[in-house]
Amino acid sequence: MTGTVYLVGAGPGAPDLLTLRAARLLESADIVFHDALVNPEILALAGKAKMVAVGKRCGKHSTAQAFINKQLIDSARKHDVIVRLKGGDPMLFGRAQEEIDALVGSGVDVEVVPGITAALAASASLKVSLTRRGIARNVAFVTPRIGKAEKAGNWLDTAASADTVVIYMGAGEAAAIANALILQGRPASTPAAMIESASLSDEQWHFGTLAGLAELAGLVGTGPAIIVLGEVLRDRARAGSQLSEWVRKAG
Ligand code: SAH
Repeated sequence: MTGTVYLVGAGPGAPDLLTLRAARLLESADIVFHDALVNPEILALAGKAKMVAVGKRCGKHSTAQAFINKQLIDSARKHDVIVRLKGGDPMLFGRAQEEIDALVGSGVDVEVVPGITAALAASASLKVSLTRRGIARNVAFVTPRIGKAEKAGNWLDTAASADTVVIYMGAGEAAAIANALILQGRPASTPAAMIESASLSDEQWHFGTLAGLAELAGLVGTGPAIIVLGEVLRDRARAGSQLSEWVRKAG
């Protein structure tokens, strides 16, 4: 007899951006394994569950993936409803496949509940559509961050050529990203936005250009931040910078 492990997307942070299915599963969960990024208000929905933090946050202590997999398998032998809660959508930049493969390989039932990924929360916060007729017909979700034994991959080619690019886990290396993209042929004047804590009450966004990406990154506080690049931002970036100038003058 084993329980089911639900890989659940917690969304970008705001509790009311959780799916109803995610909320119901949290309410009925026996045990919840959650990432460090998940909002405490969302965790509070899991009224009767034992909570286990297996947080991964850049630069901070994190639980090794193999150990997380083992904990999930072990708890499926003891409990009925096991929730593995991940920030945003579980299937994007969240090592979900490793957990799914380990669980399925051990005969444990797995289900996945999608969540709103940070790129889409950022798009909503900025009120900028990531696609736009005549301007952007494709969007790439990329990250320059790679695991220890992983090959570098071709995120740079993709980020240089996609109409709209959303860069996850990149704020900490913004200067290197900007240099690499400009060398790869992306115009230095490409409009850029940095969004921190999208959907949360302390959300912040800053507009600039690819050449000034490091400056934008310097404005980021301690929350998770995501970078958006592309012509879709041009009008909004202009209005945004006028607004911040106006706010400065008014202040
Ligand atoms: N699975 C998650 C992404 C995990 S990687 C998702 O689908 O959103 C973690 C990165 O996501 C962070 O470094 C940051 O770039 C981004 N991120 C997560 N939540 C965010 C938020 N509320 N606002 C801005 N960026 C966020």
